[in-house]
Amino acid sequence: MRERVWNKAMLMKHVWHIAVNKDTLWVKWVNIVKLKGKSIWEINEDVNDSWGWKNILKLRQTARAHMVMEIGDGDKASMWFDIWDQIGALNTFITYRDLHNARWKADMTVKEFVVNHNGQWSVEWMIKYPQLSQIQTINLSNGKSDTLRWKNRNGGVGKFTVSQVYKHISEEVIEAKWYRLIWFSQNIPKHAFILWLAVQNKLTTQDMIIRWGSYDMMVCSLCMKNSDSHDHLFFECDFSSQLRNYMQLKLGIKGIEQSWVRTLEILAEMYNGNSIGSVLRRISLAACVCFIWQERNFRLFRGISRKWEEVLKTIIDTIRLRMMSLHYKPSLAVSKVEEQWDVKLKVCAKSAGSDG
Ligand SMILES: [Zn+2]
Repeated sequence: MRERVWNKAMLMKHVWHIAVNKDTLWVKWVNIVKLKGKSIWEINEDVNDSWGWKNILKLRQTARAHMVMEIGDGDKASMWFDIWDQIGALNTFITYRDLHNARWKADMTVKEFVVNHNGQWSVEWMIKYPQLSQIQTINLSNGKSDTLRWKNRNGGVGKFTVSQVYKHISEEVIEAKWYRLIWFSQNIPKHAFILWLAVQNKLTTQDMIIRWGSYDMMVCSLCMKNSDSHDHLFFECDFSSQLRNYMQLKLGIKGIEQSWVRTLEILAEMYNGNSIGSVLRRISLAACVCFIWQERNFRLFRGISRKWEEVLKTIIDTIRLRMMSLHYKPSLAVSKVEEQWDVKLKVCAKSAGSDG
């Protein structure tokens, strides 16, 4: 996955260079051969385009949402294609035909709009596109050129760097891929949150603390061997692996004895919909991660420690309780879970929840 993300980030750099019209031979070539006076946002893919160029074009939509124009003198900013106001690029809702009919130039700059048209829309357009009334008054500052900025996922705006972009893309990829594993209505919210942090390697494990420069000797509080890390806790650690083995057997999952990332990948590739098996599997994952993390912290910070069998009992009880609070349509799978987990589930024919 890393390599793919890295390639994407590098391609994003090309899109960025085209958008800022960087002074390189390649960008000059792109301008002459590919764009021919149009903006990168408005050209179409051609069947004869090279594989690399097609990939660059495919990436545009993702790239575009991140590229915002800070208005200076308005001379560079494209009125229709750049994002220079919070409502986004105007061409997402104004068509070429509209521009043509109203005799607007497709390559109009923000400055031209302000200077030649007093920054005003016609009444017809205000009625046709109520969004336009939300645009803030454009204030041009002479002597300061328009600057393209990179907007990250939290809305912060800054410089474009490949490593920043790499980070954003990885987060997006992770989010898309592992989303259904974590965020589903039947999950326990607190568990989902801990799992979400764990998936991103954001729990404050000891390897992280060591990286920050603390030199104390640290050992995993669960096994007293290695210092802990995401990979160790989920589920290399002797303590955790016993829990994992038991749960795998109970859930009928085979062959997950791998790294944390690989475990997540295997689970993410399985069916993650509303069947009782799928819901149970994901609730169990989140519960295991949450209770292992909790036990680790109890031992480290409160001096309380339980045996793995005791933690397992808590996990099982929590899962049973959660499963009992949900509604199911009658099915063989539901009866089987009732039997295996020794629970009485809420089964009704017209349930809107899990579909068994
Ligand atoms: Zn350990």
